[in-house]
Amino acid sequence: MARERFFLELDPPEATLKALPHVVIVGGGFAGLKACHALIGKPVRVTLIDKRNFNLFQPLLYQVASGLVSQGDVASPLRQMVGQAPNVQVLLGEVQGIDATAKEVVFNERRYRYDHLILAAGSGSSYFGHEEWRALAPPMKILEHADEIRRRVLSALEEAEQTPDPAKRLFLQSVVVVGGGPTGCELAGSLNELMRHSLERDFKQLDPKQCKVTLVDPGDRVLRAMDPAISKAAQNYFDKAGVQLLLGGRVQQITEGQLVVTTADGNHTLEAATICWTAGVRASHLGKVLGDATGCPVDKGGRVIVEPDFSIQGHPEIRVIGDLCSYSHTADGKPLPGMAGPAVQMGGWVAADIVANLQGEPHKSFSWFDFGSMAVLGPLHAVADFRGLRVSGAVGWLLWGLAHLAFMPANENRISLLSKWLWAIATRERASMLITGHPNQHLDVDVGLVPVEAPAPEPTQASATIAG
Ligand SMILES: Cc1cc2nc3c(=O)[nH]c(=O)nc-3n(C[C@H](O)[C@H](O)[C@H](O)COP(=O)(O)OP(=O)(O)OC[C@H]3O[C@@H](n4cnc5c(N)ncnc54)[C@H](O)[C@@H]3O)c2cc1C
Repeated sequence: MARERFFLELDPPEATLKALPHVVIVGGGFAGLKACHALIGKPVRVTLIDKRNFNLFQPLLYQVASGLVSQGDVASPLRQMVGQAPNVQVLLGEVQGIDATAKEVVFNERRYRYDHLILAAGSGSSYFGHEEWRALAPPMKILEHADEIRRRVLSALEEAEQTPDPAKRLFLQSVVVVGGGPTGCELAGSLNELMRHSLERDFKQLDPKQCKVTLVDPGDRVLRAMDPAISKAAQNYFDKAGVQLLLGGRVQQITEGQLVVTTADGNHTLEAATICWTAGVRASHLGKVLGDATGCPVDKGGRVIVEPDFSIQGHPEIRVIGDLCSYSHTADGKPLPGMAGPAVQMGGWVAADIVANLQGEPHKSFSWFDFGSMAVLGPLHAVADFRGLRVSGAVGWLLWGLAHLAFMPANENRISLLSKWLWAIATRERASMLITGHPNQHLDVDVGLVPVEAPAPEPTQASATIAG
């Protein structure tokens, strides 16, 4: 297919592309990017719309938060990844409305027509009705969150270095991570390593043994989605590494530098200069927007309940994939987990299904292949469960490293990550220990995940039609 230039109207010029069915993909994360890749060179024209100009590899955000790697190592510009394909155009903008009758999405105050719509806008963090905690305990979903966590930890350590009062120093050297899932465990393990070992030579006044990382979770074990043997291995590692666990604990209150956690034993007050939140997930508000526009069901977490082919009832041309969908057409009837693996497989399948439908060919039904799950807890130490094959320690870390490098969509990032990991293992130094930005700047960037109660902008008569 010849490369065509798109001009002011964002519409392809009169030629081959204009006649092709138009697939609009909203969200260039794991699911949307995979769908886009799979449609390259197919007889469709594709528009990928994302509110950010990059794809983010969220599983390694904790490494940005703990200064092991930098922003660019875990994010890649969408234009470079798919924008150069002749039948793909990438547009920057936040989709705010969907008109399912006119087959249009609304973004940048314009209407944009589609023949097929793939919604893959992902999810964000939820504070279970306590939005006021967001500023006190940043989540870890986007790059700015990871930057904020690193800024808070390093700023606190800098202040501790100049603080003669031992109690205040202890406070400044303390971190609490809420949520004992893979993200919380990885963040707690990595911050613990950063504070106890990586900075030992750099800070003259700090005693690494006084650094304290506490992981809080309401369950009776960490990594509850994994096998109990994996949780046990993780807890043993944390015991040795000095990470404190507060299990069976529900957060009741968060104030500046303080958490109140309730367990069966009563209330516990934890004090820490840095508090991080990895406990709750809520789907993008586009789920509610779609529900309002079409009447399709949306679950309590804001996820769109989809049909076996990821469409919604009455709209075979709209597919919802990745973290934004609830897909329970599985052998055990349980919804697929909100993870990168299912998201990628959904993206590839939906793209192939659209092409098969257009060509009038049969397509096999979707079935998810579960490769397993894993979590890195410290240098050269990971726990992993590959379909019943359970490993921990260095072997787990090696498999984790290989899997993540294979999954990483950009080659350049593979090289930079590998070199930084090897450097950190050899020297225990971290390459990206920068304090940048200003406090709480992440709060302004965390858009697109407004509470579901807030009305999303409706399509207006005044908005311009760009295509179609
Ligand atoms: C810290 C962290 C660690 C994780 N670790 C793992 C792990 O180890 N293994 C694993 O399998 N999974 C992991 N996950 C989960 C995994 O990252 C998600 O399941 C996966 O990203 C979901 O893919 P997605 O394409 O649905 O959404 P995303 O990857 O989140 O992509 C959504 C995209 O949509 C864009 N977008 C959102 N709203 C709009 C809008 N209105 N208009 C335009 N664009 C929009 C966003 O900018 C984003 O680019 C982790 C998640 C986090 C946060």
